[in-house]
Amino acid sequence: MHHFPHNTGWIEVICGPMFSGKTEELIRRLVRAQIAKLKVEIFKPRIDARYAKDEIVSHSRLTIPSQLVDSAWEIYEHAQDAQVIGVDEAQFLGPEIVDVVQKLADSGKRVICAGLDTDYRGIPFDPIPQLLAVAEYIDKTLAICVRCGNPAKHTQRVVASRDLVLVGAYDAYEPRCRNCFVPPEPLPDTPSQEQLPLTSSKG
Ligand SMILES: [Zn+2]
Repeated sequence: MHHFPHNTGWIEVICGPMFSGKTEELIRRLVRAQIAKLKVEIFKPRIDARYAKDEIVSHSRLTIPSQLVDSAWEIYEHAQDAQVIGVDEAQFLGPEIVDVVQKLADSGKRVICAGLDTDYRGIPFDPIPQLLAVAEYIDKTLAICVRCGNPAKHTQRVVASRDLVLVGAYDAYEPRCRNCFVPPEPLPDTPSQEQLPLTSSKG
């Protein structure tokens, strides 16, 4: 991006799989804004506790101080004085993050979000698709497939777990290209409520 708009806010989204440099790109943009003497505030959801508590840490251990938040609206409250707002791991902030970044951009702020665009099953990771739809600028970062060296858009889980998120379990993932990605086996059929033995309950 070579030109910044003026007299308006806007939204940038950096998305892609794990190991693709999303956080490094976010930090690069935020540091450049700090050098330009802009007031910068950086947020990340409390769920991402890997490495450090109150800073954003990229895989190459680049760090920048950040505020931990439990909800998207907390960002709105704490970003009122900022000119530039960074949000890492935006996929963990729920659908509310879309309204929050829209309001912040509408009030004249530059908002930069980074997040995973698909989960370990290869399925779009809400609310990143919705953020992409409302953003002015979108960058998709790709990793390199560990199997074949192709550009990799997938985050392959290499341990058996059905949890959508394995926080901090870094060794549990590797980047894979479309050809080398192996989606997880579908879940075995689980009995529906009707098939479960009846239990007394008051309701
Ligand atoms: Zn591959």
